Amino acid sequence: IFTLITTGTMIAQKIPHLDKTKPTEERIDFLMQQMTLEEKVGQMNQYNGFWEVTGPAPKGGNAELKYKHLRDGWVGSMLSVRGVKEVKAVQKIAVEETRLGIPLIIGFDVIHGYKTLSPIPLAEAASWDMEAIKKSAQVAADEASASGINWTFGPNVDISNDARWGRVMEGAGEDPYLGSKIAIARVTGFQGDTKADLQKVNTIAACAKHFAAYGFAESGRDYNTVDISNSKLYNTVLPPFKAATDAGVRTMMNSFNILNGVPATGNSFLQRDILKGKWKFDGFVVSDWASVREMIAHGFAKDGADATAKAVIAGSDMDMESHLYVEELVKLVKEGKVKEALVDDAVRRILRVKFELGLFDDPYKYCDEEREKATIGNKANNDAVLDMAKKSIVLLKNDKNLLPLKKSGQKIALIGALANDKNSPLGSWRIASDDNTAVSVLEGMQQYKDNQLTFEKGADLITEKATFTSELVFNTTDKSGFDAAKKVAADADVVVMVLGEHGFQSGEGRSRTNLDLPGVQQELLEEIYKVNPNIVLVLNNGRPLALPWAAEHIPAIVEAWHLGTQTGNAVAQVLYGDYNPSGKLPMSFPRNVGQVPIYYNNYNTGRPVNSDKNVFWSHYTDVEKTPLYPFGFGLSYTTFDYKNLELNKTAFGKGEPVVVSVDITNTGNYDGKEVVQLYIQDVVASLARPVKELKGFELVTLKKGETKTVKFTLTDKELGFFDNEGNYLLESGAFKIRIGGRSDKGLESGFELQ
Ligand code: BGC
Repeated sequence: IFTLITTGTMIAQKIPHLDKTKPTEERIDFLMQQMTLEEKVGQMNQYNGFWEVTGPAPKGGNAELKYKHLRDGWVGSMLSVRGVKEVKAVQKIAVEETRLGIPLIIGFDVIHGYKTLSPIPLAEAASWDMEAIKKSAQVAADEASASGINWTFGPNVDISNDARWGRVMEGAGEDPYLGSKIAIARVTGFQGDTKADLQKVNTIAACAKHFAAYGFAESGRDYNTVDISNSKLYNTVLPPFKAATDAGVRTMMNSFNILNGVPATGNSFLQRDILKGKWKFDGFVVSDWASVREMIAHGFAKDGADATAKAVIAGSDMDMESHLYVEELVKLVKEGKVKEALVDDAVRRILRVKFELGLFDDPYKYCDEEREKATIGNKANNDAVLDMAKKSIVLLKNDKNLLPLKKSGQKIALIGALANDKNSPLGSWRIASDDNTAVSVLEGMQQYKDNQLTFEKGADLITEKATFTSELVFNTTDKSGFDAAKKVAADADVVVMVLGEHGFQSGEGRSRTNLDLPGVQQELLEEIYKVNPNIVLVLNNGRPLALPWAAEHIPAIVEAWHLGTQTGNAVAQVLYGDYNPSGKLPMSFPRNVGQVPIYYNNYNTGRPVNSDKNVFWSHYTDVEKTPLYPFGFGLSYTTFDYKNLELNKTAFGKGEPVVVSVDITNTGNYDGKEVVQLYIQDVVASLARPVKELKGFELVTLKKGETKTVKFTLTDKELGFFDNEGNYLLESGAFKIRIGGRSDKGLESGFELQ
């Protein structure tokens, strides 16, 4: 009888919040009334799932303790649990063994696909194609959700202008406007367009990260100090986070760095004042991995209890892997050092997202093994990532019309270890996908059978197996394969060389002080050039590289990043002209590393450059001041001509739309696509403004010979800026306008804002 009564009571306790017909906030109220302080703190704790629940009972230190905590209701979320079988097992414990049966939210770094991989995010940004980027996130969500996951730690919306920082591969580049549009595409791709879409089985909650300013780590060294002005913070760093918030992103992740002395994780100004205050964000904030504990090392908290108090007070709702909330928070509340209301607020936010995902209605909704089998790696997903991969490629140079390659009667020498690599092109951050699952460039090119293709690697790139976290060991000495490569090159009509960075050379903890071709690749390139200068250089990289020698000597250069599963097919289709490239760089490529940080939306100095009295920018004595390849740059197999830049008026009142139009004609011999870019300059303002800022772009498809008129409308949203207190200002005065297919050239006009 006693058991029956207890069970009956439990069911009765559970029922009200399980009633689907009740509004979410009411359901949360019901549930929270039942929760002890310990159960609330449990919801704020996230553990990794590197241990297997379906295997033998986990043993040893952490695993055993985590397992116990899970059963005792001390875990609200787990990350990196792999596959339906495992997810179902941990979910079952949470739902069926804990007192209140609150389901877990299962997080995972789905950064550019789950198993079927899209290009790295920086590469996708080069497409400037919001529909394709959204579709890519949908595919990622489709596969991840089919594998039990309901929350991704993406998108990374960190703006950065420092190519040394390895994590630029995860973001959308250097520009806040483009970055904001991409943030929206990715958030809605993962989550759907409305909150109701989260109930679907193939959507997952997104997480904009890393809040905030992580991309401005000094010297590009990961985790390093961030010390930036408020102007940079409000105008450059925050806009993509705000865009993600407005697009309904359900979670945010804070960051490892200190920002102007205060760790992001303990930063009330960022998390409480701006995010949850001004922006009214009603989802939850997860810390970055152990970033709560890292506040001790930062010298901001004296011990675990202090770090916990500071993090919770500052609005960090969930502790990823510091284990500190579980250890310290109940005591801190009981001692009155942290108000229970703050805990309640955090728990309410976490439960809200769980309700929105429909986890209370069906905790196993993502645990369908049949769906998992049918979805992962299916044809539709492979087609979608191939499409994205082609769209991400940027043609940097095409002299001598080497490209597209002729489809028959050619002798082609393919050289470079990366050409035959099925692993590196997958790129970094691909935790769920198997090694060596990319189509290599060699495999892609082999499909064009009417040419004679000969492959010689020339030299190895690395000498030991590379992994996500291991130090990479490059081949800096072995050139024994050079001669064989030179031989096939000398005999070929065209040489295709695939060179660049290893896929694991960018990503977290992968900063570089050089932006060159690692190992003996540069030497190989120069040696091959001596025997046959007809080289098409295909670059693989996770960041802008500085390759001045190649830019000067090599006639054709194709920026192919790390393009994911379908790499070889995408590259081959572009090289052979079955796809006309239209990508544009989302980050400036420097001439050498000493120029870094280099970015297109810089400010004028007061110093005229001697050669051009209208350009005010300091210069170097040893190298041009301009980048090697500017932001927004990218060629096509066809050419485009811009004409008739017109404004509907020359003077506007505030609030009046400024309509700008331009005619663009495809003047070459191929159908093609062009990213038409609109830049503005606020000439005189109460705070100095950049020399140009992207404020509109459109991807236009044009048949050869075709002309289209492209129209942009500028509103108050595009014409103002933030002052140092975060107020949005719209100031009267002159504006310059420039439209073109790159950031450094174009048609110019202007208007007056009255
Ligand atoms: C990274 C995050 C990531 C987390 C979980 C951290 O080291 O900074 O971006 O989401 O690990 O894997």
